[in-house]
Amino acid sequence: MRQRVADEVVGFEKEIGRAPVLATVIVGEDPASQIYIRNKHKACAEVGMGSVHHDLPAEASEDAVLELVAELSESEDVDGILVQLPLPPGVDPDRVVAAIDPIKDVDGLTPANAGLLAHGTPGLVPCTPAGVMELLRQEGVALEGAEAVVVGRSKLVGVPVARLLLGANATVTVCHSRTRDLAGVCSRADVLVAAAGAPRLLGADAVKPGAVVIDVGMNRTEDGLCGDVDFEPASEVAAAITPVPGGVGPMTIAMLLVNTLAAARARV
Ligand code: NAP
Repeated sequence: MRQRVADEVVGFEKEIGRAPVLATVIVGEDPASQIYIRNKHKACAEVGMGSVHHDLPAEASEDAVLELVAELSESEDVDGILVQLPLPPGVDPDRVVAAIDPIKDVDGLTPANAGLLAHGTPGLVPCTPAGVMELLRQEGVALEGAEAVVVGRSKLVGVPVARLLLGANATVTVCHSRTRDLAGVCSRADVLVAAAGAPRLLGADAVKPGAVVIDVGMNRTEDGLCGDVDFEPASEVAAAITPVPGGVGPMTIAMLLVNTLAAARARV
Protein backbone atom coordinates (compact mmCIF):
# COMPACT_ATOMS: atom_id res chain seq x y z
CA MET A 1 0.00 0.00 0.00
CA ARG A 2 2.83 2.37 0.89
CA GLN A 3 4.59 1.71 -2.38
CA ARG A 4 1.37 2.40 -4.27
CA VAL A 5 0.91 5.70 -2.41
CA ALA A 6 4.57 6.62 -3.07
CA ASP A 7 4.05 6.06 -6.81
CA GLU A 8 0.86 8.12 -6.77
CA VAL A 9 2.58 10.94 -4.85
CA VAL A 10 5.12 11.18 -7.72
CA GLY A 11 2.21 11.57 -10.16
CA PHE A 12 0.47 14.14 -7.93
CA GLU A 13 3.65 16.18 -7.63
CA LYS A 14 4.18 16.17 -11.40
CA GLU A 15 0.63 17.31 -12.00
CA ILE A 16 0.20 19.83 -9.17
CA GLY A 17 3.78 20.95 -8.56
CA ARG A 18 3.93 20.05 -4.88
CA ALA A 19 3.56 17.02 -2.60
CA PRO A 20 0.53 16.45 -0.30
CA VAL A 21 1.06 17.78 3.24
CA LEU A 22 -0.19 16.32 6.52
CA ALA A 23 -0.40 18.51 9.65
CA THR A 24 -0.47 16.85 13.06
CA VAL A 25 -1.29 18.27 16.48
CA ILE A 26 -0.44 16.94 19.93
CA VAL A 27 -1.70 18.62 23.08
CA GLY A 28 0.31 17.63 26.16
CA GLU A 29 3.04 15.04 26.56
CA ASP A 30 1.40 11.63 26.31
CA PRO A 31 4.39 9.35 25.51
CA ALA A 32 2.33 6.93 23.35
CA SER A 33 1.00 9.88 21.29
CA GLN A 34 4.58 11.09 20.70
CA ILE A 35 5.56 7.64 19.34
CA TYR A 36 2.46 7.37 17.12
CA ILE A 37 3.04 10.84 15.66
CA ARG A 38 6.75 10.21 15.07
CA ASN A 39 5.87 7.03 13.13
CA LYS A 40 3.27 8.89 11.07
CA HIS A 41 5.76 11.61 10.07
CA LYS A 42 8.35 8.97 9.18
CA ALA A 43 5.77 7.19 7.01
CA CYS A 44 4.91 10.49 5.24
CA ALA A 45 8.59 11.14 4.48
CA GLU A 46 9.03 7.60 3.14
CA VAL A 47 6.30 8.09 0.53
CA GLY A 48 7.48 11.59 -0.40
CA MET A 49 4.72 13.51 1.41
CA GLY A 50 5.34 16.64 3.42
CA SER A 51 4.34 16.89 7.06
CA VAL A 52 4.31 19.56 9.74
CA HIS A 53 3.83 19.09 13.45
CA HIS A 54 2.36 21.36 16.12
CA ASP A 55 2.91 20.76 19.84
CA LEU A 56 0.71 22.53 22.34
CA PRO A 57 1.37 22.35 26.09
CA ALA A 58 -0.92 20.25 28.32
CA GLU A 59 -2.18 23.52 29.88
CA ALA A 60 -3.33 24.89 26.50
CA SER A 61 -6.92 26.14 26.64
CA GLU A 62 -9.63 24.61 24.46
CA ASP A 63 -9.82 27.97 22.63
CA ALA A 64 -6.10 27.79 21.79
CA VAL A 65 -6.52 24.29 20.37
CA LEU A 66 -9.61 25.36 18.39
CA GLU A 67 -7.72 28.37 17.05
CA LEU A 68 -4.84 26.20 15.79
CA VAL A 69 -7.24 23.74 14.16
CA ALA A 70 -9.09 26.63 12.48
CA GLU A 71 -5.78 28.00 11.18
CA LEU A 72 -4.80 24.61 9.74
CA SER A 73 -8.28 24.19 8.24
CA GLU A 74 -7.89 27.50 6.41
CA SER A 75 -4.24 27.05 5.41
CA GLU A 76 -3.63 26.67 1.67
CA ASP A 77 -0.49 24.62 2.44
CA VAL A 78 -2.14 21.84 4.48
CA ASP A 79 -4.10 18.94 2.92
CA GLY A 80 -4.73 16.71 5.92
CA ILE A 81 -5.18 17.43 9.64
CA LEU A 82 -4.75 14.87 12.39
CA VAL A 83 -5.30 15.80 16.03
CA GLN A 84 -3.81 12.98 18.10
CA LEU A 85 -6.20 11.71 20.78
CA PRO A 86 -6.53 11.58 23.75
CA LEU A 87 -6.61 15.30 24.58
CA PRO A 88 -5.92 16.52 28.12
CA PRO A 89 -8.85 16.97 30.52
CA GLY A 90 -10.55 20.32 29.89
CA VAL A 91 -10.24 20.08 26.10
CA ASP A 92 -13.35 18.52 24.57
CA PRO A 93 -12.26 16.12 21.79
CA ASP A 94 -15.68 16.30 20.10
CA ARG A 95 -15.46 20.11 19.78
CA VAL A 96 -11.87 19.97 18.53
CA VAL A 97 -12.57 17.24 15.96
CA ALA A 98 -15.69 19.08 14.76
CA ALA A 99 -13.53 22.15 14.05
CA ILE A 100 -11.50 20.26 11.42
CA ASP A 101 -12.50 21.07 7.83
CA PRO A 102 -14.14 17.75 6.75
CA ILE A 103 -12.24 17.83 3.45
CA LYS A 104 -8.96 17.69 5.46
CA ASP A 105 -10.26 15.22 8.08
CA VAL A 106 -7.84 12.36 7.36
CA ASP A 107 -8.88 10.56 10.56
CA GLY A 108 -12.49 10.51 9.30
CA LEU A 109 -13.86 11.49 12.71
CA THR A 110 -15.71 14.75 12.02
CA PRO A 111 -19.52 14.58 12.29
CA ALA A 112 -19.67 15.22 8.52
CA ASN A 113 -17.53 12.20 7.62
CA ALA A 114 -19.07 9.99 10.32
CA GLY A 115 -22.50 10.97 8.92
CA LEU A 116 -21.50 10.12 5.35
CA LEU A 117 -20.30 6.71 6.55
CA ALA A 118 -23.57 6.14 8.45
CA HIS A 119 -25.46 7.01 5.24
CA GLY A 120 -23.45 4.44 3.33
CA THR A 121 -21.74 7.06 1.13
CA PRO A 122 -18.32 7.25 2.80
CA GLY A 123 -16.11 10.33 2.51
CA LEU A 124 -12.83 10.08 4.41
CA VAL A 125 -13.07 6.84 6.46
CA PRO A 126 -11.29 6.43 9.84
CA CYS A 127 -7.85 4.88 9.21
CA THR A 128 -8.01 1.80 11.46
CA PRO A 129 -11.44 0.60 10.20
CA ALA A 130 -10.33 1.32 6.62
CA GLY A 131 -7.19 -0.73 7.28
CA VAL A 132 -9.24 -3.64 8.65
CA MET A 133 -11.37 -3.67 5.49
CA GLU A 134 -8.32 -3.42 3.24
CA LEU A 135 -6.72 -6.41 5.00
CA LEU A 136 -9.90 -8.45 4.46
CA ARG A 137 -10.14 -7.31 0.83
CA GLN A 138 -6.52 -8.08 -0.03
CA GLU A 139 -6.78 -11.51 1.59
CA GLY A 140 -9.93 -12.24 -0.42
CA VAL A 141 -12.08 -12.91 2.67
CA ALA A 142 -15.69 -13.45 1.60
CA LEU A 143 -17.91 -10.98 3.48
CA GLU A 144 -21.19 -11.26 1.60
CA GLY A 145 -23.64 -13.03 3.90
CA ALA A 146 -20.88 -13.85 6.41
CA GLU A 147 -21.46 -13.60 10.17
CA ALA A 148 -19.25 -10.75 11.38
CA VAL A 149 -18.85 -9.93 15.07
CA VAL A 150 -17.19 -6.70 16.20
CA VAL A 151 -16.14 -6.37 19.84
CA GLY A 152 -16.17 -2.66 20.75
CA ARG A 153 -18.46 0.24 19.81
CA SER A 154 -16.17 3.28 19.83
CA LYS A 155 -16.50 6.10 17.33
CA LEU A 156 -12.89 5.50 16.35
CA VAL A 157 -12.99 1.77 15.62
CA GLY A 158 -15.98 -0.42 16.56
CA VAL A 159 -18.87 1.56 15.05
CA PRO A 160 -17.16 2.46 11.74
CA VAL A 161 -15.85 -1.12 11.28
CA ALA A 162 -19.37 -2.46 11.87
CA ARG A 163 -20.79 0.03 9.33
CA LEU A 164 -18.18 -0.90 6.72
CA LEU A 165 -18.83 -4.63 7.24
CA LEU A 166 -22.55 -3.98 6.84
CA GLY A 167 -21.79 -2.10 3.62
CA ALA A 168 -19.94 -5.21 2.44
CA ASN A 169 -23.14 -7.23 3.06
CA ALA A 170 -21.96 -9.10 6.16
CA THR A 171 -24.47 -9.87 8.93
CA VAL A 172 -23.04 -7.76 11.73
CA THR A 173 -23.26 -8.09 15.51
CA VAL A 174 -21.62 -5.48 17.75
CA CYS A 175 -20.54 -6.51 21.27
CA HIS A 176 -19.56 -4.22 24.15
CA SER A 177 -18.94 -4.28 27.88
CA ARG A 178 -22.58 -5.18 28.68
CA THR A 179 -22.79 -8.06 26.19
CA ARG A 180 -23.86 -11.32 27.84
CA ASP A 181 -21.88 -14.43 26.91
CA LEU A 182 -19.23 -12.58 24.89
CA ALA A 183 -17.34 -15.76 23.94
CA GLY A 184 -20.61 -17.41 22.84
CA VAL A 185 -21.51 -14.51 20.53
CA CYS A 186 -17.97 -14.27 19.15
CA SER A 187 -17.82 -18.00 18.45
CA ARG A 188 -20.60 -17.55 15.84
CA ALA A 189 -18.38 -15.28 13.76
CA ASP A 190 -16.91 -16.13 10.38
CA VAL A 191 -15.08 -12.80 10.73
CA LEU A 192 -14.21 -11.60 14.22
CA VAL A 193 -12.91 -8.06 14.79
CA ALA A 194 -11.65 -7.41 18.31
CA ALA A 195 -11.41 -3.73 19.30
CA ALA A 196 -12.00 -3.66 23.05
CA GLY A 197 -8.63 -2.61 24.45
CA ALA A 198 -8.65 -5.52 26.93
CA PRO A 199 -5.53 -7.73 26.92
CA ARG A 200 -6.21 -11.30 25.69
CA LEU A 201 -9.94 -10.87 26.33
CA LEU A 202 -10.83 -13.50 23.70
CA GLY A 203 -9.48 -17.03 23.92
CA ALA A 204 -9.84 -20.05 21.64
CA ASP A 205 -13.40 -20.63 22.93
CA ALA A 206 -14.41 -17.31 21.33
CA VAL A 207 -13.14 -18.33 17.90
CA LYS A 208 -15.14 -20.48 15.49
CA PRO A 209 -12.96 -23.08 13.75
CA GLY A 210 -11.89 -21.61 10.41
CA ALA A 211 -12.77 -18.00 11.35
CA VAL A 212 -10.78 -14.98 10.22
CA VAL A 213 -9.69 -12.92 13.23
CA ILE A 214 -8.64 -9.27 13.06
CA ASP A 215 -7.13 -8.08 16.33
CA VAL A 216 -7.20 -4.29 16.61
CA GLY A 217 -6.33 -4.21 20.33
CA MET A 218 -3.05 -2.67 21.41
CA ASN A 219 -2.47 -3.30 25.07
CA ARG A 220 0.71 -2.55 26.98
CA THR A 221 1.24 -5.25 29.62
CA GLU A 222 4.17 -6.30 31.81
CA ASP A 223 5.18 -8.82 29.12
CA GLY A 224 5.01 -6.22 26.34
CA LEU A 225 2.45 -5.32 23.70
CA CYS A 226 -0.47 -7.69 23.14
CA GLY A 227 -3.85 -7.71 21.43
CA ASP A 228 -7.39 -8.39 22.61
CA VAL A 229 -7.10 -11.98 21.38
CA ASP A 230 -4.98 -14.66 23.04
CA PHE A 231 -2.90 -15.20 19.91
CA GLU A 232 -1.36 -18.67 20.37
CA PRO A 233 -4.49 -20.67 21.29
CA ALA A 234 -6.71 -18.63 18.95
CA SER A 235 -4.37 -19.16 16.00
CA GLU A 236 -4.76 -22.93 16.38
CA VAL A 237 -8.49 -22.58 15.72
CA ALA A 238 -8.63 -19.64 13.29
CA ALA A 239 -8.02 -19.89 9.55
CA ALA A 240 -6.17 -16.57 9.69
CA ILE A 241 -5.35 -14.09 12.44
CA THR A 242 -3.51 -10.75 12.58
CA PRO A 243 -0.60 -10.44 15.02
CA VAL A 244 -0.06 -7.65 17.56
CA PRO A 245 2.17 -5.82 16.94
CA GLY A 246 2.54 -5.93 13.17
CA GLY A 247 -1.04 -6.42 11.94
CA VAL A 248 -3.61 -3.66 12.05
CA GLY A 249 -1.15 -1.03 13.36
CA PRO A 250 0.92 -0.73 10.15
CA MET A 251 -2.30 -0.84 8.08
CA THR A 252 -3.61 2.15 10.04
CA ILE A 253 -0.58 4.20 9.04
CA ALA A 254 -0.85 3.04 5.43
CA MET A 255 -4.50 4.18 5.34
CA LEU A 256 -3.54 7.56 6.82
CA LEU A 257 -1.26 8.03 3.80
CA VAL A 258 -4.07 6.94 1.46
CA ASN A 259 -6.46 9.42 3.12
CA THR A 260 -3.94 12.28 2.99
CA LEU A 261 -3.43 11.72 -0.73
CA ALA A 262 -7.22 11.56 -1.25
CA ALA A 263 -7.68 14.79 0.74
CA ALA A 264 -4.97 16.51 -1.31
CA ARG A 265 -6.65 15.40 -4.55
CA ALA A 266 -10.04 16.59 -3.33
CA ARG A 267 -8.61 20.10 -2.77
CA VAL A 268 -7.18 20.68 -6.25
P1 NAP B 1 -12.39 2.47 23.49
O1 NAP B 1 -12.87 3.80 23.01
O2 NAP B 1 -11.91 2.31 24.89
O3 NAP B 1 -13.59 1.43 23.23
C1 NAP B 1 -13.50 0.12 23.68
C2 NAP B 1 -14.79 -0.60 23.38
O4 NAP B 1 -14.64 -1.95 23.78
C3 NAP B 1 -16.00 -0.04 24.11
O5 NAP B 1 -17.12 -0.03 23.24
C4 NAP B 1 -16.20 -1.02 25.26
O6 NAP B 1 -17.56 -1.21 25.62
C5 NAP B 1 -15.69 -2.31 24.69
N1 NAP B 1 -15.12 -3.16 25.73
C6 NAP B 1 -14.14 -2.84 26.62
N2 NAP B 1 -13.90 -3.90 27.43
C7 NAP B 1 -14.75 -4.87 27.06
C8 NAP B 1 -15.00 -6.19 27.53
N3 NAP B 1 -14.31 -6.70 28.57
N4 NAP B 1 -15.93 -6.93 26.89
C9 NAP B 1 -16.63 -6.43 25.85
N5 NAP B 1 -16.44 -5.18 25.35
C10 NAP B 1 -15.51 -4.41 25.96
O7 NAP B 1 -11.22 1.92 22.58
P2 NAP B 1 -10.89 2.15 21.01
O8 NAP B 1 -10.36 3.51 20.79
O9 NAP B 1 -12.03 1.69 20.19
O10 NAP B 1 -9.68 1.13 20.82
C11 NAP B 1 -9.85 -0.26 21.04
C12 NAP B 1 -8.48 -0.93 21.01
O11 NAP B 1 -7.92 -0.76 19.72
C13 NAP B 1 -7.46 -0.35 21.98
O12 NAP B 1 -6.62 -1.39 22.44
C14 NAP B 1 -6.65 0.60 21.12
O13 NAP B 1 -5.33 0.79 21.60
C15 NAP B 1 -6.64 -0.17 19.83
N6 NAP B 1 -6.43 0.68 18.66
C16 NAP B 1 -5.46 0.27 17.80
C17 NAP B 1 -5.21 1.01 16.67
C18 NAP B 1 -4.14 0.55 15.74
O14 NAP B 1 -3.70 1.33 14.92
N7 NAP B 1 -3.73 -0.71 15.80
C19 NAP B 1 -5.95 2.16 16.40
C20 NAP B 1 -6.97 2.53 17.28
C21 NAP B 1 -7.19 1.77 18.41
P3 NAP B 1 -18.50 -0.03 26.24
O15 NAP B 1 -18.85 0.85 25.06
O16 NAP B 1 -19.67 -0.75 26.77
O17 NAP B 1 -17.66 0.67 27.26
